[in-house]
Amino acid sequence: MGEKPLLDRVALIGLGLIGSSIAHAARRKSAAGHIAGYTHRAETRERARKVGFADSLHASLADAVRDADLVILCTPVGVYGEIAKEAAPHLRPGAILSDVGSVKTAVVRDVGPQVPEGVHFIPAHPIAGTEQSGPEAGFAELFEGRWCILTPPPGTEPAAIERLGDFWKRLGSAIDVMDPRHHDLVLAITSHVPHLIAYNIVGTAADLETVTQGEVIKYSAGGFRDFTRIAASDPTMWRDVFLNNREAVLEMLGRFNEDLSALQRAIRWGDGEALFNLFTRTRDIRRGIVEAGQDTAAPNFGRAKKD
Ligand code: NAP
Repeated sequence: MGEKPLLDRVALIGLGLIGSSIAHAARRKSAAGHIAGYTHRAETRERARKVGFADSLHASLADAVRDADLVILCTPVGVYGEIAKEAAPHLRPGAILSDVGSVKTAVVRDVGPQVPEGVHFIPAHPIAGTEQSGPEAGFAELFEGRWCILTPPPGTEPAAIERLGDFWKRLGSAIDVMDPRHHDLVLAITSHVPHLIAYNIVGTAADLETVTQGEVIKYSAGGFRDFTRIAASDPTMWRDVFLNNREAVLEMLGRFNEDLSALQRAIRWGDGEALFNLFTRTRDIRRGIVEAGQDTAAPNFGRAKKD
């Protein structure tokens, strides 16, 4: 309390899980003197008002971004281009225009051309989230101990990159800087393909005829339920991720399909050694994630025994 805010005014465009979490964290950590929020539907603004994480809520995008030091797009990525176009004339010179989108090449393609002279455009992606969405889903601790990847275009002013990095550090994140295309490849394998696999396996189980849906649900603790958490993620957001990271996802999916075929062959030919060796290597990856502080070491993700 009493700490001078890092930035005077931050505008959040889109007030779902990520937008509301930024607001909660920015308030708690004195990262912004004033948090202005905008979202297109009155009903969502009303829900955000009830939760109370913004200092002002706007029905007009222009009013929300006016005089902001930092504007962060927190909507699904499919609408970034049109939002940036509408906001552009109202951004103040020297402001930073950023985002939280799960893809980066498409953001550079869609938003980049809209950015006016004198505004710093620095795409960003906090590697933090849950399967929940909407203004009630946010919480201040979401970004603590997580990475935030910045993908500044060549020639971006270093002081502006530092300012945005300091904002995310204040929210609890560590910063990495990356080329957007590399970001999209890394995220394709660490996030996008895993989501596709989860959506697919849950879809397959739902369509089975020889095993009933009741049985799938009843016996889900065998592993299936862990996929259902991911497969419950927001359909609009994930539709936009796959449509906007097509190349990288298809590249990683090609590799995945080859490796799956190899596993299929190992099972068909009774090659236990191949299966055992892979399962041993994958255990080490899990250990690495726990050691890096990116997940709990508690058995079964720390779920209580009777859940
Ligand atoms: P969310 O909870 O569904 O929130 C999206 C927000 O954007 C809602 O307030 C929505 O309002 C608003 N919105 C949608 N279309 C809009 C438009 N045309 N104009 C203005 N507002 C609009 O989604 P989220 O999980 O916060 O994700 C937001 C962004 O964060 C996405 O780009 C995603 O790629 C990225 N991201 C997500 C995660 C994650 O795990 N969820 C992690 C990292 C990054 P209505 O509900 O009224 O439509």
